[in-house]
Amino acid sequence: MVAKKNLIGMKFGSLTVIKEVGSNKDGRALWLCRCDCGEERIAAGKDLEKKVTRCPKKCILTEDMTGKRIGNLLVLRQVSCHHS
Ligand SMILES: [Zn+2]
Repeated sequence: MVAKKNLIGMKFGSLTVIKEVGSNKDGRALWLCRCDCGEERIAAGKDLEKKVTRCPKKCILTEDMTGKRIGNLLVLRQVSCHHS
């Protein structure tokens, strides 16, 4: 049994942890999270802490990520895309 942290109320990017909703096949806790925009999604705590989990609407992209490292990638600057 993996020791788990209580993440309720914690904020990861634009996502706030609402409640625990169970665990995945690895025994890691899954958390229901709500984005600032109102969208909800379920994520593993490990992914939340690494901030690899995002709102379905990718709201975290509106956060200033400049200078942050995500995996092997270092964010240099935000660019706008106009592919609508
Ligand atoms: Zn959102």
